[in-house]
Amino acid sequence: MLSADFGHLERDAKMVDCSRAQWFHVDVMDGVFVPNISFGFPVLQAIRRATRKVVDTHLMITAPERYLTRFVEAGSDYVTFHIEATDRVGECIDLIHRAGAKAGISIKPGTPVETLREWLPRIELVLVMSVEPGFGGQSFIEGSTERVAALRQMIRQTGSQALIEVDGGISSKNARAVFDAGADAVVAGSAIFKAPDPAAEIDRILDV
Ligand code: ZN
Repeated sequence: MLSADFGHLERDAKMVDCSRAQWFHVDVMDGVFVPNISFGFPVLQAIRRATRKVVDTHLMITAPERYLTRFVEAGSDYVTFHIEATDRVGECIDLIHRAGAKAGISIKPGTPVETLREWLPRIELVLVMSVEPGFGGQSFIEGSTERVAALRQMIRQTGSQALIEVDGGISSKNARAVFDAGADAVVAGSAIFKAPDPAAEIDRILDV
């Protein structure tokens, strides 16, 4: 939703709601963890009101433990925080679960996937960044598919039930390779909202 037109948020949310997309991916940035600021609780609540689909909140904020409960209360089904943003990973997972949502951990392109291993059995989602977080509209970093494949193997080894979601530079051109590497879900922003027919672009990505 970072790539939506906030002047027409309701219209864009309705489009996604009527499309074949299954999740609303909501990027929250604090201007500290990433050099950009997006939006907070009121926008998230507006998206929540606009749909019964899954609301998937991606927090790019420092010390997420301060706000996790509020992001669940604002209507998130999944709350995902960055492993680089806190040294209280276990506490973050517990806070999300206790508030009643599913917990995800995201990793930036430069962070070894191995750092996730110990947490995999306790979370429901792994979010692999395929661009540097902070801005929409960037190009997919080659090599991200190998990271997805490595994670898929690690999830199998640890008996984790976590889904793999890939975020950044996804379009109908590269979605097939990402799914083939073991991703369960992909996030697409610019590719959809810049397309002349956004719903048709969603179909193209799902049908690759
Ligand atoms: Zn995201």
